[in-house]
Amino acid sequence: ALDDLVTEGAGVGADAIPNDLDAFWMPFTSNRSFKKRPRLVSRAKDMHYYTPEGRAILDGCAGLWCVNPGHNREPIVEAIRQAATEVDFAPTFQYGHPQAFRLASRIADLAPGDLDHVFFCNSGSEAVDTALKIALAYHQTTGAGTRTRLIGRERGYHGVGFGGISVGGIVSNRRTFGTMLTGVDHLRSTYDREHQAFTKGEPDYGAHFADELERIVALHDASTIASVIVEPMGGSTGVLPTPKGYLKRLREICDKYGILLIFDEVITGFGRLGHAFAAERYGVVPDMITFAKGITAGAVPMGGVLVRKGIHDAFMKGPEHVVELFHGYTYSAHPLACAAGLATLDLYAREHTFTHARALEPFFADAMMSLKDKPGVLDIRTVGITGAVDLAPKEGAPGLKGYEALERAFHEEGLMMRIAGDTLVVTPPLIISKDQVGELVEKLGRVIEKVA
Ligand code: PMP
Repeated sequence: ALDDLVTEGAGVGADAIPNDLDAFWMPFTSNRSFKKRPRLVSRAKDMHYYTPEGRAILDGCAGLWCVNPGHNREPIVEAIRQAATEVDFAPTFQYGHPQAFRLASRIADLAPGDLDHVFFCNSGSEAVDTALKIALAYHQTTGAGTRTRLIGRERGYHGVGFGGISVGGIVSNRRTFGTMLTGVDHLRSTYDREHQAFTKGEPDYGAHFADELERIVALHDASTIASVIVEPMGGSTGVLPTPKGYLKRLREICDKYGILLIFDEVITGFGRLGHAFAAERYGVVPDMITFAKGITAGAVPMGGVLVRKGIHDAFMKGPEHVVELFHGYTYSAHPLACAAGLATLDLYAREHTFTHARALEPFFADAMMSLKDKPGVLDIRTVGITGAVDLAPKEGAPGLKGYEALERAFHEEGLMMRIAGDTLVVTPPLIISKDQVGELVEKLGRVIEKVA
C-alpha cells in the first residue's frame, strides 16, 4: 500500500486525475452529486483557474472570497518559498519569530483608530471564536463577569465553530448540531427587499434595524451583555450591505451600554469594499475586527483578530509572569502564513489594489444592474467589488435542483461562481479589469437565461 501511496502521492502532477474521489469528504458540498460530475481545477493564474485539461475558468468568486490580488502572484509565491527554507515551523507560545511581529504591526497600521493589537489564528471560524472569547474574558478581567450574553444577527455567517454557528443566523448550519451556546440573541436581518431592491451600495432604508439592540438590552439588562458581532456586509448569505447609518447606530448603542462591538471582516477585510477594512468605509471603529482570507490572498491559511488598545491593555495589568489569555493555536502566526501575509500586503500597497477597487465600484455596479431584466431576477445588490443576483426559487425543490443545473451551466460557460440559496454571488479578484467585468456579466447573463 505504501508503494501505491508513492505513485499516487506528491510526485504526481497536479493535472493527473485522481483514480479515487471517494475518500475526500468534501465540505459544504453535495458529495454524491459532485462525484458523479466532478469539476476539478488544478492550476490558477491571475483572474483564471484552469481545469486539468487546460480549459480556462474565469474566477468570479476569488476562490472563496480570498484571492483578492489574483492567483499565484509571483511575489507571494516567492515569499512562501523562501520562508519554507528558513523556518518551517516556529511556535508562538512562549517563543516567537520575527515575521509574526512584523505582520501584526503592518495589519495594525492598516486598521482604523486604536485597533493596535493582533491575535493570530488560521481561519475565519477561529477568528470569530477568538473574538467572542476575548470579549468574555475582557469583561471578566474588568470585573464585569455577568456580561456573558452574545448577540449576533439573523442571516449572519460567522464560520462553523460552535461560537460562530451560535451567533450566526443560518438555520441549515445550526439545525443538525444540537444545543448551541446558550445566552445568545439575534438582531434581525437588515435585508428588506420591499424597500431595498436594486440598490447600488448601502440602502437608504433600514438604519432603524439597529434599534433592536435597545429591545434586547431592555429585555436582558445591559449588565448581562458581552458583545455584538455583525458583518459590515453580510457575505455568505447573499451580499447584504448594511443600510446607511446602521453601523453608526449600533456603535452608539454599544457605547451607551458598555457592549463590545465586533465587526466580522473575514470577507470585507483587505479591499473587498475598497478599503483595508469596511470599518473605514463606514467611519465606525469597532472594538474588534476578525479577518482571514485576503490577508494571505488565500495562499496559506491565516486568520486573526484586531483588538483595540484599551481591551488589550486591560489584560496586561496582572502579575507580569502570568499568561494573560489562555487561548491560542499551534499554528497561530505560522511562518509561511506570515510570509504570505507580508508579501500580500506589499502587493496591495504597490498595486494600489484597494484604490483600484474603489474606483471600479461604480462601473461594476452598473454592469451588474444591466442584468435587471433577465428572466427570474428578483433583486440585484452591489457594494464594493461584490454583487448578488436573487433568482426566483425553482418550484418543488427550492435551491437544490436549480443548484445542480446552475453549477453545470457555470462550469460549461467557464465561470466560477458562488451560489448561496437562490442567490448568485459575484466576488471576483480585485484586480479585475473593466473588460473582464464585461465578460463576467455576459457569461452570468447567459447562465441566468439558460436556467430560467
Ligand atoms: N466569517 C465570515 C464573515 C465569513 O464570510 C467566513 C467564511 N466565508 C467565516 C467567518 C469563516 O471563515 P473560514 O471558512 O475561514 O473558517
